[in-house]
Amino acid sequence: MAGGLSQLAAENNGFPVLLLDKLHKTYNPGSNLEVHVLKGISLAVERGDYVAIMGHSGSGKSTMLNILGCLDVPSDGSYLIDGVDVSSLSDGQLADIRNQYLGFVFQTFNLVRRTSALANVELPLVYAGVSRSERRKRAHRALEMVGLGDRMSHMPNELSGGQQQRVAIARAVATGPSIILADEPTGNLDSRSTAEILAIFQKLNDEGKTVVMVTHEPDVAEHCKRIVRMRDGVVSGDELVPQPRRAEDELRKAGTGQSVDMHQGDVTHVPLAAAR
Ligand code: ADP
Ligand code: MG
Repeated sequence: MAGGLSQLAAENNGFPVLLLDKLHKTYNPGSNLEVHVLKGISLAVERGDYVAIMGHSGSGKSTMLNILGCLDVPSDGSYLIDGVDVSSLSDGQLADIRNQYLGFVFQTFNLVRRTSALANVELPLVYAGVSRSERRKRAHRALEMVGLGDRMSHMPNELSGGQQQRVAIARAVATGPSIILADEPTGNLDSRSTAEILAIFQKLNDEGKTVVMVTHEPDVAEHCKRIVRMRDGVVSGDELVPQPRRAEDELRKAGTGQSVDMHQGDVTHVPLAAAR
């Protein structure tokens, strides 16, 4: 971990792990292609939370997640990780945070082609300067955690979509980040693979990792602890899910070989203000 941030963060222990304050994002400012996407987002995410970000296509979900992942910068307002203002960090510190503090999972998996599952998972560990033998050990552990211990030498094109996404999750967690950010991670997957991915996120969250996941599927969001809704660049709703669905149980009930019914039972949501 970047010495600077962990030191600063230790002094800021009471802070939410992620804090957006009046955040704005304008693409192509000052040109005729200017578009004001985020219009004052304020959001606090506590350590160990599991948050679904929902909203129509174009509402700014990916824009916000990219800023949370330090892949993009806000135009105005502030973003604090563990109480540390991200805009105060050097490029080197930001690279360290992206590599070791945050794990990113994308809809399209983004694996390196013609490179084994094991080598894909080792990649961020190479950037983190981890020794070869330690790299192998950690990548093995991460792939076993996602149930792919027997597929380590497979190339991405020899794996199903769900398996590729599990490799991508192993890659995201191999460096031991405490925050997982996922942008529509189940958007390209069938319902069984979706349940498998959700079971892994739930396990990571049970272990204490903070998870923020963009999804437009209510069935997926019902597995999270909290649902934040975006509309026209602002937060339009924020609710706790009283009893998040357990993907692991749904998989077990479905047994092997059967498709998983994601559409079971209705979940009622309690407005956050009322629940807290
Ligand atoms: P969502 O993920 O909710 O579908 P996005 O955050 O991807 O929404 O996009 C929000 C809006 O910002 C859309 O109108 C989109 O066209 C625009 N947008 C996204 N990325 C860029 C970019 N790099 N340059 C210009 N406009 C962008
Ligand atoms: Mg998007």
